[in-house]
Amino acid sequence: GEPTALAVRISPLNEDLYVIELRDISEFQRLERVRRDFVANVSHELKTPVGALQVLAEALRDAVSDPDAAERFASRVQSEASRMAALVHDLLELSRIQGAERTPEARPVRVDAVIAEALDQNRTAAELKDIAFEVKGEKGLEVLGSESQLITAVKNLVSNAVAYSPESTAVTVEVGSCPTPDSVTEARTVCVTVSDKGIGIAPKDLDRIFERFYRADRARSRTTGGTGLGLAIVKHIAVNHGGRVDVRSAPEEGSVFTLMLPERSG
Ligand code: ADP
Repeated sequence: GEPTALAVRISPLNEDLYVIELRDISEFQRLERVRRDFVANVSHELKTPVGALQVLAEALRDAVSDPDAAERFASRVQSEASRMAALVHDLLELSRIQGAERTPEARPVRVDAVIAEALDQNRTAAELKDIAFEVKGEKGLEVLGSESQLITAVKNLVSNAVAYSPESTAVTVEVGSCPTPDSVTEARTVCVTVSDKGIGIAPKDLDRIFERFYRADRARSRTTGGTGLGLAIVKHIAVNHGGRVDVRSAPEEGSVFTLMLPERSG
């Protein structure tokens, strides 16, 4: 593994005794590195569309006498601007969620209502690709937490399922008690699974897709217009609610994401 970083402090106790303090600062250094990488990533991701907009604005000005070219440049301005808007939106979302209390405004939330809303927010994108939504499982299960955060989490999973699936396939959302209760507390857990028949994820990427800005296939994911932040947001929301998120996937076979949340009892 990683070498341990130690900070040393030597202070005299009296004339012939010294106190030597060793402090493990590896974790501190790791967090500092994560923070620096994040800032570098954000700058890079914002610079790309801004650079494109500058070039496009110039091209647009030179194209006044060529309406067809002007039209093309204008629509690329539009798509670069939406990319930036999506990125800023996701960054704000992530920073809000990271700053949140562990248990956000904990209220009883009906999971089936969360799923219905998350699907509604993806309906247009699904219709454009002739993707059908299927909903299965128990009605009326409840968890404690923030309804808006939970909608965001399921919405992000469904939006990925749609984005990384070919046309005319199905995306299935299923809700129920997880097969095995929490091994420590025996508490019941609600499982929300989002399954697709899409491109799937290579084993080498599976561990990393929940990292901020990690995208499995840069070339391909670029064309889906995502930000690389969606799953990081899902993971934070799951953890904020005392749960977690898991994935099973194989290339060309599709993916199954499972959001596990402590069930509200009584
Ligand atoms: P993005 O904005 O790129 O979708 P995410 O954080 O939501 O960012 O996802 C990270 C990466 O994980 C994606 O770029 C993609 O490579 C992979 N991924 C996520 N969901 C799926 C899925 N349902 N099927 C295949 N790949 C997926």
